[in-house]
Amino acid sequence: KKIVIALDGYSSCGKSTTAKLVAAALGYAYIDTGAMYRAVTLYFLDHHVSLTNPKEVKEALSNIEIDFHYNPKTNRNEVFLNGLNVEDEIRKMYISNQVSEVSVVAEVRRAMVSQQQKMGKKRGVVMDGRDIGTAVFPDAEVKIFMTADVDTRAKRRQVELLEKKQLVNLGEIKQNLQKRDHIDSTREESPLRRAKDAALLDTSHMTIDEQVDFVLEKVTS
Ligand code: C5P
Repeated sequence: KKIVIALDGYSSCGKSTTAKLVAAALGYAYIDTGAMYRAVTLYFLDHHVSLTNPKEVKEALSNIEIDFHYNPKTNRNEVFLNGLNVEDEIRKMYISNQVSEVSVVAEVRRAMVSQQQKMGKKRGVVMDGRDIGTAVFPDAEVKIFMTADVDTRAKRRQVELLEKKQLVNLGEIKQNLQKRDHIDSTREESPLRRAKDAALLDTSHMTIDEQVDFVLEKVTS
């Protein structure tokens, strides 16, 4: 029987890496919900949408279409905004610096959550984000809450960005992670928090294989 696996947690603690590999192992779809909020942020910045203007936000959301397409060249699902591949653009620092502010907006969350629920309706998905186990799929069969110490996360993030030829200093990355974690966990609408029934996974001293095994074990138990 196909299930929903919810992977929530702080920024850059290995959620997407783990989710991707778990999905591949099970033949499930992997949905990166952070990419959706990032795509909305890109659109809002491009179109100068004012977050405090409900009419503008609503209008913008009605013009946004987000979907994922598998790219065999990169072996990953890439995110498309209104038909355009924005996978590389949304990973840049200027998006990371704005995405949490955009994600606070209740109307934005409502739109994303409802699309995510549709995407996972048939089960057989691994979804990573901040509120999957609490708001999107409170009935997920497996829930994991991931964390890691902030210096480890910042270093991993720096390596990731470097692989995309973006040179960002460690201090700036760390500051961004802490700022996002703060906004994400203190916002009113479905804040980042561990669901009561989520297993805690601290990846500070774990290899990727160990993280994947931890999740797979929950699936089979
Ligand atoms: O997962 P990622 O770090 O790419 O997410 C970027 C941002 O999107 C988060 O810091 C958070 O503000 C927002 N987000 C969210 N809810 C989710 C996934 C991401 O608010 N389910």
